[in-house]
Amino acid sequence: MDCLFCKIVAGEIPSTKIYEDEYVYAFKDIDPQAPFHAIVIPKTHIKSAAEITAENSFLVAKVFEAIAKIAEQENLEKGFRVVNNCGEQGGQTVGHIHFHLLARRNLAWPPG
Ligand code: 5GP
Ligand code: ZN
Repeated sequence: MDCLFCKIVAGEIPSTKIYEDEYVYAFKDIDPQAPFHAIVIPKTHIKSAAEITAENSFLVAKVFEAIAKIAEQENLEKGFRVVNNCGEQGGQTVGHIHFHLLARRNLAWPPG
């Protein structure tokens, strides 16, 4: 399948790994928007948050379990933000569901 993040999971495109388990892979964003910016993805290809079903929703839980572990591993005790962009107006540019994990600066709210 011609998917950038599937290729990253397969090691066909290099990435800087932050965390990996059976279900989840996390790596440094190539264009960081904060001093700490990871992309956290299920290894299974799901197009976007709009494609979550009763069958695959456990993978979202696995992603959030991984995020808690990464936060501990990376000492993000001051806090962090998790962002999911979905679809064209949501700002999604890669068609494999992913969660941005941003930290180590004050993050504005509302995000704009
Ligand atoms: P989106 O805009 O779809 O929510 O987020 C896609 C993210 O993937 C962007 O923050 C972008 O910088 C990141 N990205 C795109 N291509 C690559 C790549 O080849 N490697 C890495 N590490 N990140 C990428
Ligand atoms: Zn994919």
